[in-house]
Amino acid sequence: MVERNGVVIVGAGPVGLVSAVCLARAGIPSVLLEASPETPRDLRASTVHPPTLDMLDEIGVADAYIKLGVTTDSWQVIHLGTRERVRFDLASIKDHTRHPYRLQCEQYNLAPILFEHARASGLVEIHLGAEVTDVAQDDDKVTARATIEGNLHTFEGRYLIGADGAHSVVRRCLGLPLEGFTYEHSTTLITTPFRFEDAIPELVGANYTWTWLDAGSMFRLRDEWRCTFYPRPGEADVELTDDVIESRMQGILERDEPYEVREKRNYKIHQRIVPDYRKGRIVLAGDAAHVTPPTGGLGMNGGIHDAVNLADKLARVCNGESDDLLDLYTRQRRPVAVAEILAQSHQNRIRMQLWDPEQRKEVLAHMRGLAADPERSKQMLLRTSMIEGLRQAAAVQ
Ligand SMILES: Cc1cc2nc3c(=O)[nH]c(=O)nc-3n(C[C@H](O)[C@H](O)[C@H](O)COP(=O)(O)OP(=O)(O)OC[C@H]3O[C@@H](n4cnc5c(N)ncnc54)[C@H](O)[C@@H]3O)c2cc1C
Repeated sequence: MVERNGVVIVGAGPVGLVSAVCLARAGIPSVLLEASPETPRDLRASTVHPPTLDMLDEIGVADAYIKLGVTTDSWQVIHLGTRERVRFDLASIKDHTRHPYRLQCEQYNLAPILFEHARASGLVEIHLGAEVTDVAQDDDKVTARATIEGNLHTFEGRYLIGADGAHSVVRRCLGLPLEGFTYEHSTTLITTPFRFEDAIPELVGANYTWTWLDAGSMFRLRDEWRCTFYPRPGEADVELTDDVIESRMQGILERDEPYEVREKRNYKIHQRIVPDYRKGRIVLAGDAAHVTPPTGGLGMNGGIHDAVNLADKLARVCNGESDDLLDLYTRQRRPVAVAEILAQSHQNRIRMQLWDPEQRKEVLAHMRGLAADPERSKQMLLRTSMIEGLRQAAAVQ
């Protein structure tokens, strides 16, 4: 079967879905091919930064997403043993965003909202359970072949977006390497309904945490806390046994009762990027183009920023402008991924993985100095909230 459409999008994660909705708003039809029969409910992104909320607002989905999560107007580095902390208030960037706060809400809550908008537009042809096996292109068109219920289908379009995540088939078909490295150790993620906010009044919604023995983070979601842990020095990955998990949780706050653990998992961390986001009529976005440690919550946010930038350019190209605009997309988005997204998440990870008490004190002293200086603090928040990266990208011609 051959089907013709404006843009073929491979992958209905946040990046593919945002691309489809943005294209539809610009009047460009697309066909969205997603391998899974339904949206996965796995533990992935939960931090959404202010400019991403601004973008989601532009396409009419922010309010519904915000309603499903909790917002936090500050984040902090805190030592849970000494209760020393340095807090940064996002109100200081209120002149630069309509959403001067972080949203904490699971990524799987965003997909149904975006699907609804894509369907309502009448311009997005959605195929779930459609696993793309290869993509090809010639001077006039792109072709994606997908298996649906055991049958091979062929989809054609003028351009193709590879938004099929870290293991991208589209990237493989283009022969583009995902250059970089994989971190030696995994990070451990644990969720619990225990109300830490009642027991540790110093906590805010987003906390980068040290305890006497551990390092990690604690994020408050609507009805649970998401706690991450790095392996201790000399330790391999954290063992996911009940005893080990319980001892880690007791390190946050000692209690007589054991903690109720809802989910636990170890995940591998990479820092990788393709040398070019574009090859002819095929363009990569999101995790298909770059993968980064979750520290700082930049991967999905950066991918959504890619999608918004790319959809704007593809719409203009489909409406007759030169497709050189697609090279501008790489020139604008790739340097930001390298200098801001990959570099920042690496620095965040290094900073929190300090184990020497003296070094931790030095970091806190440095951050306290930063927090006390309104201008420097604002510049840092513009950067960590990804606003600065977007500005740098917009300035590239
Ligand atoms: C534990 C964890 C926590 C994280 N926390 C954050 C955070 O707080 N903030 C943040 O910004 N980021 C975070 N991230 C990163 C974030 O989850 C990813 O960056 C984001 O999911 C990337 O979106 P995507 O749409 O590019 O790819 P994906 O979400 O991976 O979506 C790709 C889609 O393509 C589909 N697909 C794959 N292959 C095919 C194929 N051959 N044919 C058709 N469809 C295909 C997949 O089924 C999937 O639906 C976290 C990641 C992890 C693992």
